[in-house]
Amino acid sequence: MKVTDYFDKSAGTTLISFEVLPPPKGGGMQAIFDVLDPLMEFKPPFIDVTYHREEFVYVQRPGGYFEKISIRKRPGTVGICAAIVHRYGVDAVPHLICGGFTKEDTENALIDLNFLNINNVLAIRGDARKFDNKFEPEPQGHAYALDLVRQIADMNQGKYLDENIENGQCTDFCIGVAGYPEKHFEAPNLQADMQWTKAKVEAGANYIVTQMFFDNQKYFQYVQQCRNMGIDVPIVPGLKPLTREGQLNTIPRHFHVDVPAELVNAMRQAKTPEAKRQVGIEWCITQSKELKAAGVPCLHYYTMGDAATTRQIAEAVF
Ligand code: FAD
Repeated sequence: MKVTDYFDKSAGTTLISFEVLPPPKGGGMQAIFDVLDPLMEFKPPFIDVTYHREEFVYVQRPGGYFEKISIRKRPGTVGICAAIVHRYGVDAVPHLICGGFTKEDTENALIDLNFLNINNVLAIRGDARKFDNKFEPEPQGHAYALDLVRQIADMNQGKYLDENIENGQCTDFCIGVAGYPEKHFEAPNLQADMQWTKAKVEAGANYIVTQMFFDNQKYFQYVQQCRNMGIDVPIVPGLKPLTREGQLNTIPRHFHVDVPAELVNAMRQAKTPEAKRQVGIEWCITQSKELKAAGVPCLHYYTMGDAATTRQIAEAVF
């Protein structure tokens, strides 16, 4: 079923969903099941699986020189989605990115998903690779998620890259896209960023999942601004609990979001690593309860492979 059909069917009840990362290359599916098994009792209708493009790493060779090589550290998104559907009977939402894909690669990936009867995708651009100073699309690839959305929407109309294909099968993808209550870090301002988000919706995106945030007011204001500019699709809040004091710096650095002073102070004052973790969990529970009371369509948790933390939050909220 499509993600948006679940929202329609839920009649105002807030759903729960989780995002998992493929294990590092060499790992097995059990790593994913170990995260999801304890969470399935909360009945998520769908599970997101992130996509990770290849990265550059520098390897020191005998003689001391460094060789730049390209590796995919976390392959397997599509296979994991199929395994999730098979094991739990829920829908899986693969993330599909622009980075590393030509349009042809994208088309082939979508054909695979269609054949697997996976009809939901989250269409995103991806970040610059480590050691690249900005995002570089593949030659013959997409520079922005907007173009990826357009390609998926075209396939939903039976339009393939090869113009000789007549009466191509229409796919039926429900398309999610990313949104940023605190602005995407490359955008000159929030308004400009939201105009591009609006363009993604006009191109065919059916719902938005937000970047994590730690101040619900940012989400509520964002939703209101979206509505004011005519973005009328569901906007799903993405949530991640802080569990370590070091994240007070690493999360803003990687995700370009603010951590409220109250949360920073409470974490710093907590005496032990476990007490700090509980501060982060309690904060996320409070956020979740307020969002649920406001009637958001779904609470989407970035598990980051931490089932115990996600479970503690879900138990308190659902
Ligand atoms: P876009 O929508 O393309 O926007 C990128 C920037 O360009 C923004 O500043 C926007 O304002 C601007 N812009 C957009 N369109 C245009 C245009 N046509 N012309 C000019 N400027 C434009 N990354 C991964 O690698 N794998 C994942 O699985 C993954 N999952 C994610 C899930 C969620 C819910 C979120 C919020 C992020 C995820 N990311 C993932 C990170 C994401 O790839 C980065 O945030 C990336 O930098 C931007 O992706 P986007 O789809 O928002 O890009």
